[in-house]
Amino acid sequence: MDLKESFIRLLKDFAAAFMPYACHRCRTSTDFGVVFCADCHARLVSALHPPRETDDTRCDFAVYTLSSYSSVMADVIRIIKYHPSARLLKALAEACHKHGNIESLVKKSDVIVPVPMHSQRLSQRGFNQAEKLAASFASIAGCHFSPALLRTRATRPQADCDEEERRDNLKGAFAVDRNLKRGAFANSHIILVDDVATTGSTLQLCADKLRELKPAKISALVVSHAYKKF
Ligand SMILES: [Zn+2]
Repeated sequence: MDLKESFIRLLKDFAAAFMPYACHRCRTSTDFGVVFCADCHARLVSALHPPRETDDTRCDFAVYTLSSYSSVMADVIRIIKYHPSARLLKALAEACHKHGNIESLVKKSDVIVPVPMHSQRLSQRGFNQAEKLAASFASIAGCHFSPALLRTRATRPQADCDEEERRDNLKGAFAVDRNLKRGAFANSHIILVDDVATTGSTLQLCADKLRELKPAKISALVVSHAYKKF
């Protein structure tokens, strides 16, 4: 071990002693700033795959997912939402970049639009995870990123609603940003991005609004498709 490596090791030991750091999922101790232990990281990576169309949402357009349903992915998405952890979100976006082959779906001419979050929840959480993921995917693919949709009223988390309540809960909750030029994305392929889809109700309502922009096609890309409630 050379002098530089010894110094770095010393700094890490110091950080570990005074600022203990742990895997954000399983709490195993890790080096300072490392959000996943080796085991959780390996399991997260093995759940990721290139965009794959899923056929059990109620959407009238294609919905692609980047991972198989796994307990690690479900945990990571839940922790990002409810704790909330911007560091974990960044680590998830990086893993999607390295292991999700996003460019196989998203082309340079496409427009990526995140599912919006209401300002009230945004100020509580500090970030919109869908927007951060969408910006990361757009940067990977070199395509246009546009927060074209707004959430006009606060809604209950979809996971707290039963099947019937879900659609009513979101009725009238989305609008196209009035500052956006009409026809700005006419004849484009718009890809909606969210962290997770369950029944697809949120994505469908967002797509219904985006159709006002007369795109040629709408698709959705989510990190995970949950087969049970988060
Ligand atoms: Zn872990």
